[in-house]
Amino acid sequence: MKTADLSWVNNVIKEEQYKKYMNGDKDFINDEEIWEKIEREKNPDPRKIREIVKKSFEIQTLTPDETAALLNVKDPELWEEIYAAAAEVKKKVYDNRIVTFAPLYCSNYCVNNCLYCGFRRDNKEEVRRRLTLDEVKDETKALAGKIGHKRLIVVYGEHPLSDANYIADTIRAIYSVKVKTKNGYGDIRRVNVNAAPMSVEDLAMLKEVGIGTYQVFQETYHHDTYKQVHPFGTLKSNYQWRAYAMHRAFEANVDDVAIGALFGLYDWRFEVMGLLYHARELERQFGVGPHTVSFPRLTPAKNAPYIQKTQYKVSDEDFKKLIAVIRLSIPYTGMIITAREPARIRREVLPMCTQTDASTKIGIGAYSEINGSDGQDLAKQQFFIGDDRELDDVVRELAEMGYITSFCTAGYRCGRTGKNIMELLKTGKEGNFCKLNAILTFREWLDDFASEETKKVGEALIKKEMREVKSRTPKVFSPQVVGELENYYERIKNGERDLYF
Ligand code: SAM
Ligand code: SF4
Repeated sequence: MKTADLSWVNNVIKEEQYKKYMNGDKDFINDEEIWEKIEREKNPDPRKIREIVKKSFEIQTLTPDETAALLNVKDPELWEEIYAAAAEVKKKVYDNRIVTFAPLYCSNYCVNNCLYCGFRRDNKEEVRRRLTLDEVKDETKALAGKIGHKRLIVVYGEHPLSDANYIADTIRAIYSVKVKTKNGYGDIRRVNVNAAPMSVEDLAMLKEVGIGTYQVFQETYHHDTYKQVHPFGTLKSNYQWRAYAMHRAFEANVDDVAIGALFGLYDWRFEVMGLLYHARELERQFGVGPHTVSFPRLTPAKNAPYIQKTQYKVSDEDFKKLIAVIRLSIPYTGMIITAREPARIRREVLPMCTQTDASTKIGIGAYSEINGSDGQDLAKQQFFIGDDRELDDVVRELAEMGYITSFCTAGYRCGRTGKNIMELLKTGKEGNFCKLNAILTFREWLDDFASEETKKVGEALIKKEMREVKSRTPKVFSPQVVGELENYYERIKNGERDLYF
């Protein structure tokens, strides 16, 4: 590493910003306790499982013992009940909408050396690149003007070239883009960030430029495995700096936070417990749990030795189980299934999830084809994606399955974040806002970006959604709200954009 990089690295971690939350040298994950609970709950009584599921229906976070019991279910028929319940809970909280987004990779320079990632510094075959701000705008134009995305997750390696100042500049650049479309204009209305753990000060700066959700995955909650896959001496090898990243985010007033684990590094049941402990810790400290939970599975990457070595690869069957258990354990949370997974798996687990990406490209500059090609190239990207279908195809498939794709980004712009949104989610009220905003943003997208085929399927779905809204009047939606919906809807058809509840 260059001397300048080394001196930057030495100033990133601020011990006092996480030690104050710890209990002596203990963090909120106790490995022995987790295994003890998983062992103790072996062979749970089906009646007990059904009682636990009932609690999820009341949108209450489960206890670690309850989650451990779910993880130990063996009976395939009982699993079928659990999947159905997980889908029901999702519907109760979020209705039938799926939010869509795209990742935008801005820089693949990285000072870390994670043994599972193509961006690791020892991967000399990786072509390193950091987008200039003009290039970030070009990428945004392609995403917002050609595909029609409204929501991005921007991704960065950890490096002085992609520090918090660069991240802030890229967020500003993205929000500045407005592109003329067929019937209106396209823009990105929510920029979520997946980047390394930051200090309170850096996070406060990102709050200022309008960060949406701040996302950091713990990768593995198991301390020994964490140590093994994040070589000693790297920034990322500090487990607690990462585990308390969301605590610092709350301190900086970034109250939409997202957690995740990279499944395949360690036993999937342990990781589910880790995610639950993390959510409960945030609830305890700040009264607000994670806005979303991610559960990426390890995907092939170049020169990433742990991928061949791991004994913990998660089968498709276990993947479905872990998604269902997370859904029931943290029932209010959003859950993201990404294009790492092939289409067939995404279809299968989608009823339990709330967000998915589409038209996904993870090469640096791939949307505007800065590198000359938009195909997948492992020398230029972090890992291999499993589903590279266009947004139009995904939207149509979802509509055929009865799900409305939502491009809504209203929540955080109306103050529905943090504690406010938690309350709305737990009482099922957020699902109502979701429904109205999904209809409006779907209409926008159909008019600006959909193929004729998708438009046809989409319009039939909108009619059904409108009928449903009316059938819930006046119990759920007042006649006034329905009137307003119809008014907004007509205005959008006439070219107005970004009208929301
Ligand atoms: N560098 C930052 C960090 O590590 O937090 C953020 C960007 S990193 C590119 C985003 C996420 O990609 C990581 O948190 C990790 O979970 C995931 N990832 C890394 N290697 C992967 C692989 N081979 N397959 C699937 N996901 C992977
Ligand atoms: Fe760097 Fe993040 Fe990849 Fe680790 S996971 S090598 S920190 S980009």
